[in-house]
Parts: sequence; structure tokens; C-alpha cells
Amino acid sequence: MVISVSRQMVAKRSSTKHGAPPGGHILCKVCGDKASGFHYGVFSCEGCKGFFRRTIRQNITYKPCDNPKGCLIMRISRNRCQFCRLQKCLTVGMSHESVRLGRCPKKDRPSSANFFVLPQNQSGAVDVDKQVKNEQMVLCIHDAFKSASKEFDRVSKDVAPVEMEVISTQEESKNIYLRYLPTMVRCISTFAKEIPQFLDISLEDQRVLIKSCLLEMAVLHDSTHVHLTDGVWVDEKLKFHMETEALSNLGLMGTVFRNFHDVVSKIRKFELTDVEMSLVCAIVLLCPDREGLKTRKMLENLETDLCMALKCQLLLNHGEGVLLLARIINMLVDLRTISTKYLEEILNAQVDMGSTKG
Ligand SMILES: [Zn+2]
Ligand SMILES: [Zn+2]
Repeated sequence: MVISVSRQMVAKRSSTKHGAPPGGHILCKVCGDKASGFHYGVFSCEGCKGFFRRTIRQNITYKPCDNPKGCLIMRISRNRCQFCRLQKCLTVGMSHESVRLGRCPKKDRPSSANFFVLPQNQSGAVDVDKQVKNEQMVLCIHDAFKSASKEFDRVSKDVAPVEMEVISTQEESKNIYLRYLPTMVRCISTFAKEIPQFLDISLEDQRVLIKSCLLEMAVLHDSTHVHLTDGVWVDEKLKFHMETEALSNLGLMGTVFRNFHDVVSKIRKFELTDVEMSLVCAIVLLCPDREGLKTRKMLENLETDLCMALKCQLLLNHGEGVLLLARIINMLVDLRTISTKYLEEILNAQVDMGSTKG
């Protein structure tokens, strides 16, 4: 589980000597491939260096991308959208002026925390097949996440009332179950069904995974859109509004939302990108130690790959992989604790609701 991964990370880190890590790579800031050196002001691979040089020398303008959030630039996707690749080059700080400097300034010299161990084959070279496979996994999970977010928006329109509802009594809070849980289940199923590794699992285990991650995914998803200001929880999508003072009147629901509130604030502080959030969701969904699972080995291997992929993204996007990943894993442990404590109770409350509704 997560704990075993954090132990592996600590072990890997201590084997990394400052300056010359055995087998560690500096990654291209643009695409995450192995960097060949410091080019145009940033560490980059030969491919991105050449791309940037051609663009500048020939003064090329690329056709704008119609993907509103921009394309995810990785080794395997970097040739698909030149517009987004150039944007990424500029965002990470590539500039034509830096070309004459040629050397890496002292402030930009990589510390041991900037090295990343790309998968290697037996001769010690980068294992391109494994690298490609990992990147395909990331692209696929990112796409699945986008589909799930769309599904959430679609379903929430069906279940939510037209007007924003203020929730202040236990009676009113029951409406939330009816909006929240079915929407989350749909959203998680959409996410899961686009992940090939999930489809390889038996139906029985698939059900265990979806049910067990329900509350955890709800919190992760909430962190992407709810407003938390002055102790008020506003969900514009599911159309409800709760004030901190009212939580004490809401029984179980109030307790759960008080816990949610704290974790959502923590998640926000990480400022995760979409792709990072999608990987965190995949780690939660494909957790190998849920009660009742029959197959664990494949999920354990997958968890290691997912954590490595997340660490790589964190390093590229935030300049920090190991520590940030450790903090995210701590947050996931908190999330798991809340979920273990309340999930059954919440599901039973929903069943009761269903039976009283007849
Ligand atoms: Zn590159
Ligand atoms: Zn694009």
C-alpha cells in the first residue's frame, strides 16, 4: 500500500549521492524525457532543444490548439501538438536570449532532489519501452479523469435542484446523500472504465474498489470545485450551501463534512495540476489493500508505477518530487482514516433513506 511505497522512496533517495546519482537523470523540463543538457536556459532533451531552435530561427507560428486546457506534453505526445509544445517551452522558461550563455548558472544547478530515476534496462540505458508504457498510462488516466469530470457535470445537472439549497437541518441534509452518492458512483465508474488496468481486474474486485474509494474520491473531486470561504461550503454543481455553525445540527453528515473541509483545504495547498490530480485519483481507486480484494499483486505493482509517475510530474511541475509526494501520501492516509470511519455509516444512511422513500 501507500506506506510500502513511501518506504521504497526513502530507500531510493538515500542511495542518491549528491551530484552524481547512480542512474538518476535530469529530466527535460518540457517533456520529461532524459535531458541532454542546459539549452536555451533550461534543462531539456535534444528533441525539445531542436524544436525550440527551429521555431525561433525560422520564426514559425503554429496553428492554435483547440484543447481549452492545453495538451499534456510528454515524450510520446510531444510531436502531436506543436502549439502546446512551444507554449510549454516558453512556460518553463526557454528563451532565445539564454542561448549565448550556454552554461548552467549556479542558481539553476540541479540538486540531488532534481534527479529522477527513469526506468532502466539491464545495460543501464533508459528502458524506452517501459518509459513509453508509463507515459501511455499517464495519458490514459488523464483522459479518463477528463471524461469523469464531464460525467460529473452532466449527472449533477440531473440530480441538483435549480435553486441553490441552504442545508441547515438534519432533514435537509438527507437530500445531499441522494445527490452526492449516485453522482460520485457514476463519476468514479466513468473514470475506472477508461483505465485498461482496471478492466483487467475481476468484476467482483472492481466493485470492491469502486465502493471503497467513494468518500475519498468525493473529497478529491470536491477540492477541484467547491468554494470554501468564511466557513461556508458552497457546491455550485450539486447546488447546496452549508455554514460551519450549521454542521453541528446535521448529525453524521455534519461530522463528515467538517472532516472533508479540513482535507479539502490541505489538498488545495498542493496546487495540483489536472494530470497530478488524475494520478492521485488513480492511486486512490486502484489501492491494493482494500478489504475483500482477491487479487493484490497486480495492484501493488501498479501502485508503484503510479507513485513514480506522480513523483515525476511533481518534480517537473513544482520542482520537488520526493517531499511533495510524501506530503500527498500523508494527506491520503488522513483521507483513508476518515473514510474507514464513516463510509459504512454513510452507505447505511443512504439505504435507510431509500427504504423510507419507498
Ligand atoms: Zn523534451
Ligand atoms: Zn495542444
